[in-house]
Amino acid sequence: MREGPFKESSYYYPGERIQAYMESLGTTEIYENQFLPAIDRKIAILTHDDEFDPEMFRIERSQGIRSTWFVLAERLEETIPPEADVHLHFDKEKSTLGEQIETYRSKLHRYPRFNRIHRLLWRANNFDFPLLAMSGIQVDSTLIGERPYRPTIEGRVLPIWEVPFSIADRAERFMACYSIAADSEVLFKDGLSPITILSHPFSVCARHQLISCFYEVLRLIRRYHYQSMDMTSFYDQFLRAYDPCGWKGEDHRVTIFPPAGARQDQKGKGES
Ligand SMILES: [Zn+2]
Repeated sequence: MREGPFKESSYYYPGERIQAYMESLGTTEIYENQFLPAIDRKIAILTHDDEFDPEMFRIERSQGIRSTWFVLAERLEETIPPEADVHLHFDKEKSTLGEQIETYRSKLHRYPRFNRIHRLLWRANNFDFPLLAMSGIQVDSTLIGERPYRPTIEGRVLPIWEVPFSIADRAERFMACYSIAADSEVLFKDGLSPITILSHPFSVCARHQLISCFYEVLRLIRRYHYQSMDMTSFYDQFLRAYDPCGWKGEDHRVTIFPPAGARQDQKGKGES
């Protein structure tokens, strides 16, 4: 890795709309991120980035493992089986979030509920969280950590969850994508729940010289009797109850920018 100034990629932010959206959310006296209370089941959420991998999917199915795929808009192909839990992998350097959601919608005929940002390219909580929330994303899984939470920004609890991942593939070079423990087994042994795992498809690991965590994680899930769950099931069973807007199933429509006051009432029915 070279030393020297780090040149950050440029990407588009609708700054004024983000600000107006934040102003439309009601303020509270809350000042802490709202963490999910401890859950009494040991759950592992296996996730994959960039593209769909039929071989990985086949192995998981044969072992009763569920997973969630964050697929780049241009890699959303007709051949992806409909039973795969596929969501958005927003690439900030390609086009806007709205455009990529539209590509997703036109290819899969539904809206993405969850997202992970490609290359984990995160600017700041007060930029990324509102942008994702106001675009209808209910769960983001870009950050690294150990417990799901709803972010609080200036007394506003945003209607989005961060489900951070804690285990990732390893790289020869130290990159942004890291695991929180030196040995992933520690998390299972300790009973952390949920454990969210970022495991890239075999092809992506080969392309970027990543040391895959896939087989190790499958072994740990079995050995420590974790229940494998995709993000949709996890959201529906554990997060949905806290969501002020609620998930309205097939009726859900993304409001790229809700009218002022649409989400002011935290107990409201959400956007119409
Ligand atoms: Zn990616």
